[in-house]
Amino acid sequence: MSSKLRILVPVKRVIDYAVKPRVRSDRTGVETSGVKHSLNPFDELSIEEAVRLRERKQPVEEILAVSAGPAKCADTLRTAMAMGADRSIHVDVPEDKPLEPLSVAKLLKAIAEKEQSNLIILGKQAIDDDAGQTGQMLAGLLNWPQATQASKVDIKDNQVTVTREVDGGIETIRAKLPIIITTDLRLNEPRYASLPNIMKAKKKKLDKKSLADYGVDVKPRLKTIKVEEPPVRQGGGKVEDVDGLIGKLKELGAI
Ligand code: AMP
Repeated sequence: MSSKLRILVPVKRVIDYAVKPRVRSDRTGVETSGVKHSLNPFDELSIEEAVRLRERKQPVEEILAVSAGPAKCADTLRTAMAMGADRSIHVDVPEDKPLEPLSVAKLLKAIAEKEQSNLIILGKQAIDDDAGQTGQMLAGLLNWPQATQASKVDIKDNQVTVTREVDGGIETIRAKLPIIITTDLRLNEPRYASLPNIMKAKKKKLDKKSLADYGVDVKPRLKTIKVEEPPVRQGGGKVEDVDGLIGKLKELGAI
């Protein structure tokens, strides 16, 4: 008998992928105020995959989106619900004290246990900190199998088959529910939230919680020493023709 799928999808509010981040003057991080934020692109893939599992008539009981961050995460969660999540939980975390991946993993463990989730789909990385750690740490804390960087997911009779693109080709792995999956770019193409669905999402349930509600230790263990802009790119020279190029390469000792 197939278990009902209780899918948890953690979604992070990050600086929009099209914005060029600027380092703050005190060099402790990047400027976030007044900057456009969006749902982390990898998390869009996770929501889309959860919705497609339901559309493929998998026994999806619930798709729950969760975000830990400042008040504006509510917008991120509304987007996730407009894409098809059933309800969401916003865990309030001050903007100037974002959680480290280990703390997010501990929080997600507490939420998954409380909500009796049996499938957690995270992004392979958040495009702001590029940590790529949360899913792996969560799998460790829960002692669940993990299939990272999924490009295809199939579920049949509690067996989850995940295809992953690896250096030498394509790897297919199988494990039983409950499982952690992290999503990679080729998994699917996330849908746009349609206007009617945006309207419907306004009526879906969004619970506001505090870190204290889950009683997890979120004490930071990392200290950012400094954040720097990448070195300014040196402009290249121009050559007139192929002979000029060959001459230049010889001059530089490259050939
Ligand atoms: P990271 O390990 O920070 O690169 O993030 C990997 C994934 O963990 C993201 O794609 C999200 O699915 C999840 N995640 C990280 N931080 C948060 C957060 N503050 N709230 C909800 N989900 C998060």
